[in-house]
Amino acid sequence: MNYISTRGAGIGQRHTFSDILLGGLAKDGGLYLPNEYPKVSADELARWRALPYADLAFEILRKFSDDIPDEDLRELTRCTYTAQVYCNVRDEENAAQITPLKTLGVEGGTPLSLLELSNGPTLAFKDMAMQLLGNLFEYTLAKHGQTLNILGATSGDTGSAAEYAMRGKKGIRVFMLSPHKKMSAFQTAQMYSLQDPNIFNIAIEGVFDDCQDIVKAVSNDHAFKAQQKIGTVNSINWARVVAQVVYYFKGYFAATKSNDERVSFTVPSGNFGNVCAGHIARMMGLPVEKLVVATNENDVLDEFFRTGIYRVRKSSETYHTSSPSMDISKASNFERFVFDLLGRDPKRVLQLFRDVEEKGGFDLQASGDFARVEEFGFVSGRSSHDDRVDTIRDVFEQYDTMIDTHTADGVKVAREHLQAGIPMIVLETAQPIKFGETIREALEREPERPAAFSGIEDLPQRFEVLANDAERVKAFVAERTR
Ligand SMILES: *Cc1c(COP(=O)(O)O)cnc(C)c1O
Repeated sequence: MNYISTRGAGIGQRHTFSDILLGGLAKDGGLYLPNEYPKVSADELARWRALPYADLAFEILRKFSDDIPDEDLRELTRCTYTAQVYCNVRDEENAAQITPLKTLGVEGGTPLSLLELSNGPTLAFKDMAMQLLGNLFEYTLAKHGQTLNILGATSGDTGSAAEYAMRGKKGIRVFMLSPHKKMSAFQTAQMYSLQDPNIFNIAIEGVFDDCQDIVKAVSNDHAFKAQQKIGTVNSINWARVVAQVVYYFKGYFAATKSNDERVSFTVPSGNFGNVCAGHIARMMGLPVEKLVVATNENDVLDEFFRTGIYRVRKSSETYHTSSPSMDISKASNFERFVFDLLGRDPKRVLQLFRDVEEKGGFDLQASGDFARVEEFGFVSGRSSHDDRVDTIRDVFEQYDTMIDTHTADGVKVAREHLQAGIPMIVLETAQPIKFGETIREALEREPERPAAFSGIEDLPQRFEVLANDAERVKAFVAERTR
């Protein structure tokens, strides 16, 4: 398996899975993709149906990472996807499934289900990929005798998923910036209660954008970055995308009895990482009918899939919504899909994403490329705060099931795309406890709290408050990596 950039670099060169694992963007600013998608045969699909999650993950990942010996990869997937790690399930007896499928009911002549992806340590689907990344990083660094200092900014979900994945890992430190006193008590406790010596929570006296600017400033200091071995774990990381391919297969098997059936998935989307994995599963040959992209009020992606116009927003135009993990101004993984949509033409991708930088977007309607969106199974919809509240209430009343705000956006949009006889699977991307305010608004009761999290707000917290100053952060990192 060789990896190439969506903008053309690396074509004709050798880039293995391990080569690109620890990096971010390709040198030309593009995103890495395999030079072709591995195909799944009918025999394989039949055999995979019965596999436990960890072994299914092994079978899928080995097609993308042929430079990791099979016995090592099998060990890595088996220690990542365990019932102990994914223990925060609705029904205790489902823990072994890692991603249980919960059927809500029959609507529009077809079962409507939730694929539970948020049973991991931070109660959001990002754990599914990040936990694997932690083990892959530790394995690869040890092999080459290297170390890595991960620097990130978070307003909640990503940062805590990264910390819980990297805690205690050899050769890795995490420096995570978060806005001082701006996160919910629950999210703050989740991150700051970690006592592991390789995890550094840095509370910046500023807002989330200030934290992001500091990360950018530090990353642009190339000498510092190289000397301190600074890396990131953001959503463009290829290993994160490919780890997410697995649960589309798992969800398909859970919702069907035979491989002649087709299903559709609805994906609450922000940076397009999750649904990009669905696209890859479909390209590999998984019988997927529709991939439904659900957005909130930040509807960059819904606009594209309705009109063919991709128009990124300024940060001043980005709304702060009650499904905050989907509050994006541009979708950082979208370029991967555009590459496939344009028949894998790197020159055109380069031009289009130059247009994004210079003119704020591009229009594929006129060129005829947009018509191909249908071939790829994509449709979309958007949801608002009122829709979210209504859907949380409705699903609770009809099905006795509490869902979070992002999943509610998914259910709202899924209902607009039901087709009789084709099961609809909505990806459940977080648990309600993370977004308690909207649950209280919708249901006038407290969100359900998994047992492991009782009293988490009372635990001692470990964090450092720093001024909103990149130099101060650099000094802090340098002192701790000596
Ligand atoms: C990150 C996140 C999303 C969006 O996923 P993308 O891969 O960025 O599209 C949706 N819901 C929750 C809860 C998330 O944390």
